[in-house]
Amino acid sequence: MLRIRNLKCFYGRIMAIKGISLSVAAGEITCLIGANGSGKSTLLSAVCGLLPDWTGEIELEGQSIKGLEPPAVVRRGISLVPEGRLIFPPLSVMDNLKLGAYTRYKKRAANAVEADLESMMSLFPILRERFRQPAGTLSGGEQQMLAIARALMARPRLLLLDEPSMGLAPMIVEKIMEVLEVLRSGGLTIVLVEQNALAALEAADRGYVLETGAVVLQGAADELLADKDVKRAYLGKDYGDFYDAG
Ligand code: ATP
Repeated sequence: MLRIRNLKCFYGRIMAIKGISLSVAAGEITCLIGANGSGKSTLLSAVCGLLPDWTGEIELEGQSIKGLEPPAVVRRGISLVPEGRLIFPPLSVMDNLKLGAYTRYKKRAANAVEADLESMMSLFPILRERFRQPAGTLSGGEQQMLAIARALMARPRLLLLDEPSMGLAPMIVEKIMEVLEVLRSGGLTIVLVEQNALAALEAADRGYVLETGAVVLQGAADELLADKDVKRAYLGKDYGDFYDAG
């Protein structure tokens, strides 16, 4: 679905991504894990057309998306759930959702958009209860659900999520990971960027570990979960001991 080759990303003279290659298989959840500043968000920005300065190649289903503006990337089938949610606080839940579909209104798809609003409220029943409420009055977990639903309103084939678990209670994180599983079962391809390595690897099929702008480890998610270095560096000592004890 997505292939990245030798990606190098620049902020002025700083190279934040130093030659990453990776691929995302259709119908799978692929996670990118790594510490603060390892380049996860930068990589997503490059894919979405939000980063002006990068070299290498990014292909969606075999077609280059290099040089496309963000709306064109969305039209090609890629949707981003940004870090920190970035919902529009004064607008209602309904209007936030409709904005997620703005590229489709141009195609006179208003009826389909209405139907998708209904699907989003079935997927996240809390959004039905909050439908006419300003989005800024929602709890953190509800705002994250809204951000995911807004991204889905574009009808993506590839959904990118940037740290959806950030600042949320474990129970809410679990709920969000369950929703990702439901979406994957429906055929959606997902890239999940997370500092919460445990939640991400448990949800994912494959994973990449990033350190200072480079991939240092990759593999099946269950293999990474069992990897000694991953356990030590990203899953915490106790979790490692638990596994070592069998
Ligand atoms: P986090 O988990 O904190 O979001 P990340 O893995 O997503 O981290 P990035 O935000 O992609 O990492 O940052 C990668 C590197 O690029 C870091 O060294 C960061 O300081 C740098 N960087 C990010 N944004 C900019 C910017 N706008 N200008 C200059 N440097 C930047």
